[in-house]
Amino acid sequence: MPAFEAEAIVLRHYPLSESGRIVVFFTREHGKLRAAADGIKKTKSHLAGALEPFNHVRVGLWFREGKDLGQIRGAELISAFPGKAIDLRRIYACSYFAELTSEIVQENQSNHALFRLLSASMKAAAEASPTAALIRYFEIWALRLNGFFPDFTRCSSCGKGVINEGFFAWVESGEARCTDCAGGVGIHVSAKSASALEKMMKLPPEKFMILPFEHDVASELEKFAQRLLGFNLERQLKSWPLLREALQN
Ligand SMILES: [Zn+2]
Repeated sequence: MPAFEAEAIVLRHYPLSESGRIVVFFTREHGKLRAAADGIKKTKSHLAGALEPFNHVRVGLWFREGKDLGQIRGAELISAFPGKAIDLRRIYACSYFAELTSEIVQENQSNHALFRLLSASMKAAAEASPTAALIRYFEIWALRLNGFFPDFTRCSSCGKGVINEGFFAWVESGEARCTDCAGGVGIHVSAKSASALEKMMKLPPEKFMILPFEHDVASELEKFAQRLLGFNLERQLKSWPLLREALQN
């Protein structure tokens, strides 16, 4: 890839030598990319401000042939996060969205739908304090858009539709089982939770996050989504315990 411009969300950055920084981007056009900015910490530059985590930017990048680490040529802010609202819930929610995205995607592979999900979810978290419903929405859709969300609408044994009566999720084999065929094994997703999952598939995040989310539905779907993530990512995300605690307060 020669020099090019990309629309990106800053997932995180970390130091490179004394004055430089490596920035991890999720770009609309090319997926997850890493690029270095040399000398960025020496001056309180416009560039350093634009490249803060969770910012939505237009960035100029250059990659030497065959190299995975690019160089940052410039960046223009499209929208800053978290803006003026210093609310831990918002910051932890965005950290979680960014970490989950970074872990679930393949490097250098575009995923336009995931870019839209990430940017819409960050926007929703910037405009109103994030709810458990928004977090579940992001998790389930991130799994789905990366091919990690099996068909949980029919019992894999008898073929019966399970949305109306709920189901047991067999996460490891990617199956849904109706109550008769599950034998009490699996993660229980009640009829109310199954109906919330169905709504999640049809609504944008800002609409889903304000729906009433009963306590038992919230806790069932948390268990369900976390098991799916744990199985597919094979580790717990660092930002999850902090977010979980912030959501409970
Ligand atoms: Zn069945």
